[in-house]
This record gives sequence, C-alpha cells and structure tokens, in this order.
Amino acid sequence: MKNLSAKVLVLGDQGVGKTSLVMRYSRKIFVETSTPTIGAAYFEAIEEVGDQKLKLKIWDTAGQERFKSMIPMYYRNSKAALIVFDITDSDSFVAAQKWATELHQHIEDKLILFLIGNKSDLGRSRKVKQSEANAYAEMIGGHFREVSAYSNEGISEMFLDLCVKLLHEK
Ligand code: GDP
Ligand code: MG
Repeated sequence: MKNLSAKVLVLGDQGVGKTSLVMRYSRKIFVETSTPTIGAAYFEAIEEVGDQKLKLKIWDTAGQERFKSMIPMYYRNSKAALIVFDITDSDSFVAAQKWATELHQHIEDKLILFLIGNKSDLGRSRKVKQSEANAYAEMIGGHFREVSAYSNEGISEMFLDLCVKLLHEK
C-alpha cells in the first residue's frame, strides 16, 4: 500500500480557535514541532479510512493572522485548507472571506476547502447564520462545517470527511 500524505493549511483570524481545533484533534497526532521562524505550528496525524492510511501534515498559522504577507512556501503543495471563523464574531467571518480570496491568489492547483464555523457550543451568541456561511462556502466551491473545539462537536467527523475527500482526489 502506498503511503499517502497531504498538506493541510489552517487559516483564519486570531482567536477563532484554530490551535484549539488542531489540539482537539491531536489524540491522533503524534508529532508536534514548533516552527517559530515562519510563525506556524506543524502537526502530523494519521487517519485511517477503510484500508487506507492518510498522513495529514497540518500547518496551524500563528503569526500571520492579520494578512501579513504569507510565505509562499506555506501555501506550496497544499492539498486542503481549513478556513476557520468564530460563529459568535461576524468580523471573523468577513476575515474568513478575505482568507479565501488570499488563498485563491496563491494556489494554482485545485484544493479542498472547508469553511469551519467554530464555537458551536456558543450557539446562543451566534452572529453568523449557518445559511449565510453555507452559501458562501458553496460559492467558493468549498464545504461548510460547524464544530466546537471546546465540546468536541463535529471535529473528528470533519477531519474524517476531509480525509475521504483527499483520498478521493488521489
Ligand atoms: P487561534 O488564535 O485561532 O489559534 O485560537 P485559539 O485556539 O488560541 O483559541 C482562542 C480562544 O478561543 C481561546 O480562549 C480558546 O479557549 C477559545 N476557544 C477555542 N475554540 C473554542 C470553542 O469551540 N468554544 C469556545 N467556547 N471557546 C473556544
Ligand atoms: Mg493559534
């Protein structure tokens, strides 16, 4: 069996929960290396889908959240991106749209894009409608998912879904 791997970018404004989300998933993660030079944390995770194994190489942005010039190597060869916003913060949803635009300017290949509304546990303070997020995700050819890094809702499902899509592309 071939060893398959895929680079996954995690983008979105500071405070939306990117690191929490990756850490929540980290029960499957066995390597964590800090790379302060490019302001991103790197994680590896193995997901098993049926009889196939896929290694996710996850890059969690840290320093570049405010659209500072992203290092091209960060984008290079990415197979998927998670653009994260906080459902209780409409500014973060606007920012997610800027991230999507910025991403498309850097990526030549087709890539799998998930628009992630995080903090679903705070649904009572919701500022971003699911229908709005869903419509935007569809418009850019992506997939909207709502999750909570806090309560763990939707996280493993989302990553599994991502892996299924990645394996399908191969
Ligand atoms: P990042 O800057 O995007 O990496 O965001 P962090 O992961 O550092 O999270 C920012 C803040 O949001 C922290 O105080 C987290 O505890 C909180 N947070 C992250 N995810 C959730 C969530 O799903 N629900 C709630 N209620 N808080 C969250
Ligand atoms: Mg972070």
